Order: sequence, then structure tokens, then C-alpha cells
Amino acid sequence: MRIAGRVCALLLLFAGLALAANPPAAGPTPSARAIALAHDAIVIDTHADTTQWMLDGGFDFTKPTQRMVSLDKARQGGLKAEFFSIWVEPRFGPQTIERALDLIDAVRRQAEAHPEQLGLATTAADIRRLTAEHRFAMLMGVEGGHAIADDLAVLRDYYRLGVRYMTLTWSNTNDWADSSGDQDDARVHHHNGLTPFGKEVVAEMNRLGMIVDISHVSDKTFWDAIATTQAPVIASHSSARALVNAPRNMTDAMLRAVARNGGVVQVNDYAAFDSQAARDQAAKFAADEARAEGPVDAAWDGDWLHGYPHIDAFQRRFAAEHFTRPPFRALMDQFVHIIQVAGIDHVGLGSDWDGIDWAPQGMDGAQDIPRIVQGLMDRGYTDAQIRQVLGLNTLRVMGQVEAVARRLQRQPDTPARANSGPVTP
Ligand SMILES: [Zn+2]
Repeated sequence: MRIAGRVCALLLLFAGLALAANPPAAGPTPSARAIALAHDAIVIDTHADTTQWMLDGGFDFTKPTQRMVSLDKARQGGLKAEFFSIWVEPRFGPQTIERALDLIDAVRRQAEAHPEQLGLATTAADIRRLTAEHRFAMLMGVEGGHAIADDLAVLRDYYRLGVRYMTLTWSNTNDWADSSGDQDDARVHHHNGLTPFGKEVVAEMNRLGMIVDISHVSDKTFWDAIATTQAPVIASHSSARALVNAPRNMTDAMLRAVARNGGVVQVNDYAAFDSQAARDQAAKFAADEARAEGPVDAAWDGDWLHGYPHIDAFQRRFAAEHFTRPPFRALMDQFVHIIQVAGIDHVGLGSDWDGIDWAPQGMDGAQDIPRIVQGLMDRGYTDAQIRQVLGLNTLRVMGQVEAVARRLQRQPDTPARANSGPVTP
């Protein structure tokens, strides 16, 4: 989920429209060998915002759809596993936990409804098993630490329900961690990174076996998390700041720190994180969008919980007219840069599908994974290296996080974690 601001939920709805507005073009045409590798490899994507359409849109994952990821597109592109985002709009306030639980239920009901084709995965071993059984693995990550409502018990409950990562923040700074999304907003109370409770959250995630996800956090929060965690971290949907100067992207120093930590940075497909030209255009778009908010407000009843259907033709036209898709190589340049800085062991796929309204040409969803494979082949990477990027690196982190949790759970409780009982998955 990359969007921010008062119209963010509305923007979601025309994600597909903006993609459709530009004719499909120019990504590398995948060779038979690239397609075969994608189909044979364990391909894991660590961030898709499709969950809201499951809950609010009546979307059946096994039915063909205009969403960027669905079972047919996954089969087409070789995708074996997806982390579905449990993202709650921060202004839900007291309804935050209820909304998160509804989203978790929506993912789990998909898996329950189609046991022949889908399965809920909570471990690296689950992904391997489901892949061997030709079943699609559904995983969950909470996007935004505000969703635990400052309560470690809620964090544990999310774990027990199957959530296996949490971004410490979304675009909003919460009560215990600073976000990159509002760091220049003087009205927001910032903490200079993680508070003492924020460090407790990280420690409890380590103990539970929930991956610490540093996508969206401020730079200081990132460094505090790296200094606190005992397990590898991920950046489930982040790109490189050396190529695109967005605070949401990671500096080379951060990429190297994730490598030292043993973690993985999963590359985001959002045009304005992958292409500086697109980001510059986005800045202009944001200014125009701000001027355009009158008609949006007129069409929207202000209901954040069920407000997605309220979008008017004005906004659809606005997006279609203003977005120019960067070339596919902008995405490949991100992969190559992060591989060169962090190393081949520390890069993965973190598309942000169905949370973005704008991606490079040739990247329209899960069906286009073979284009990434072809792009990596064209730049000289071996099949074994490409398999790492496609999923083995992410599987490795999952296994390491599980091992750290087993070790920490064998240790006697400290007073600081006195209310932390043993966790049964
Ligand atoms: Zn996001």
C-alpha cells in the first residue's frame, strides 16, 4: 500500500483503470526458458493489497479478475505464494482491530473455501509443501504497527491467526515508531525512531517468529530496528533511494545494513518508487490532485470503512490522463542496483500489487513475473541466482526467523516480557 492522504482509499479503486489507460507495451518478451524457470521456481511475492477486494469487493481469488493478482494470473506467471496485506486505514481509530480481524478472516476464508487450489501458509515448510501439492500458498502480513493498538497481546493474537510479518509503520507515525510518510509534518508527534515500547514490540516479534518489516519506516526507525532485532528483517515492498529520491526508498547504507542483518529487500513495482521521472510526475500529480479534491469530496460519503465504491468519473479521468508509465527497465534497474549493493542473497519480489495505481510498462500483475526473470537473464544472472531472487531468499529469512523464535522461546522470561506466555501456532 503506497497511497496516502484523504483520497487514498478512493484511489485504490481505479488502480486497474490507470494501468489500462496506457496500451500494454514494452517489457522484455519472456523466452520459453524464462517462463519455464518462473513456473519451476518457488516464487514468493511479499506484498499485495488484494485483501480489501476479498473483504469489501466480494472478490473470489480463484476467479478471473481485473485485480493484479489472482489464481489464474499466479498460474500464468509462476507465482506460488503471496503475502496478503492486512492494512487498516489509520483513521479507523477504535475500529482498527475489528477491521484487521475482518481482513484476516477474508484471507482465511479464501483458503478454506478452495482447499484443492489454495492453502494458508505460516512457515517456510508450508510454502514448500503447498507448492509441491500445486496449491497456492496464502500468507499474511500486517501493514502498519498502529494495527496492534499499542497492545502486545493483540500482536500475539495476530500471530496466532497466521500473520507472519508486520511493517512497524505504514505512512503514519504511530505511538511507538516514526514513519517516512509524515516525517516533515510538524503536526505529528515524532519519537526519533523507536520508543522503548517500540523496541519491546520488535523483541516480541522476534520471540513470536513474526518477521520485522521495515518498509515505510523513517530512517531512524530503520536503524533502531536493525540495532534491536535478533532475527533477519525484510523490507517487504521497498526500492532504492540512490535511483529514486523518495523517503520511502532505502539508501545504499540501509541496503548494506539489511545484508549484514541477513535480511531481504523485496523490490516494489510502484512507478514513482522505481523511476525518478515518474516520481517527478507524481509530485505534479499530487499538486493537481489536491486542487481536485472538491469533486471527490462531493462524491464520497466519508465512510472510511466501506467507502471504496464512492468514486466519481472525474477522478478516473484524472488518473488516466496524468499517468505515464516508465519503461520496464526502471524496475529491472532497481533489482540490479539492490543486487549490486546488498548482494544476490538479499533481494526478492515485493510487488505492492493492488495497492499501486501505476507500474512500469509490461508489469500489470502476477502474470508478468517471467518478464522479471527474462530481465535478470538478460543482465547475466544465472538460473540459481534468479531462483534466489524469486523466492529462496525470502524462504531463508522465514526459516531463520522461525529458528530465532524457537531459541528465544526456550529462554526463561525476563520481567519485561513477564506477560508473554509460550505461543502455540
Ligand atoms: Zn505499503
